[in-house]
Amino acid sequence: KAKEQGKARFKVFNQKMHEQALRIMELESELRRAVERREIQVYYQPIVDLARQRIHGFEALSRWIHPRHGFIPPSEFIPLAEDTGLIAPLGAEVLRTACTTLLAWHQLFMANGLTEEADLPRMSVNISGKQFLQPSLVGEIQAILAETGLDPQYLTLEITENVLMINAEGAGSMLAKLKRLGVCVSMDDFGTGYSSLSYLRQFPIDHIKIDRGFVSSCDEDAESFAIIKTVLSLGAALGMEVVAEGVETVGQLGLLVDKGCQYGQGYLFSRPLPPEEMKAFIMQHMTSPHAAFDELTRQR
Ligand code: C2E
Ligand code: MG
Ligand code: MG
Ligand code: MG
Repeated sequence: KAKEQGKARFKVFNQKMHEQALRIMELESELRRAVERREIQVYYQPIVDLARQRIHGFEALSRWIHPRHGFIPPSEFIPLAEDTGLIAPLGAEVLRTACTTLLAWHQLFMANGLTEEADLPRMSVNISGKQFLQPSLVGEIQAILAETGLDPQYLTLEITENVLMINAEGAGSMLAKLKRLGVCVSMDDFGTGYSSLSYLRQFPIDHIKIDRGFVSSCDEDAESFAIIKTVLSLGAALGMEVVAEGVETVGQLGLLVDKGCQYGQGYLFSRPLPPEEMKAFIMQHMTSPHAAFDELTRQR
């Protein structure tokens, strides 16, 4: 009996695995097609300057809206793209789209009299581990900057700390080449990886992004708040500006403002949105602060 049950369970397990394998195979070939047909969409989430209370820039976040499976999160299709060699063409497409979109938005800002370099927003684009270690990356980025005409100083590349750990030497020389292009580099999801603090000093990193896990609990959990304060003083000591990811409440915003965190990003300001909807957000907030800042003042 037990044996039979075991067999049955094994069968079910097997079938699940089989179905899963089929789904992955199917997704793989459809991802290839989606990349070729440029069906991967780029959404944008604002990064807000907390002292100036204005838009500082945007993060480009890929979206795959599958005709049958619906929304497939990047946490599922980015690893798939990495395993199938599709990350290079996908990454190039996202970068090209993000640069072109940013240039269009620069026009909006300039039409509003915001013409100073410091007033124009920036664009952050995620670079995955496999992408980062491809020697062709620098040339590809350079080509896209030339093709779109975006001034490299407005582009930030986001990499995670683990990328630096896997191959420190390779990462170091890649970062040096990227810096020579004139782009900025941001350390994403800081605090979740394996890096040691000495790595931060060793590499030419411009910004640190505190992981959402710490930010989303900082108004309730003293330890998360302590970590945030530590990252902020680390950033100040090393000359790196800090972005808090995943700001969801006015309470969290208040703590970040008090501690002098330079930038915030999260649902409190806006979810990632398709370009047309983000344009509406820009029109509304180009010159007037987000309502979250009024709310913060009211609460105090
Ligand atoms: P990430 O770079 O750390 O991006 C931030 C993630 O946090 C995004 O998830 C964003 O939607 C989410 N987020 C932002 N604010 C909040 C908030 O207030 N609350 C909550 N709960 N979540 C918030 P998303 O878009 O699902 O992306 C997940 C990850 O996938 C990204 O993490 C990034 O590592 C990767 N990714 C996304 N697009 C690309 C891409 O084009 N290329 C590469 N290589 N990776 C990408
Ligand atoms: Mg990111
Ligand atoms: Mg992040
Ligand atoms: Mg994250």
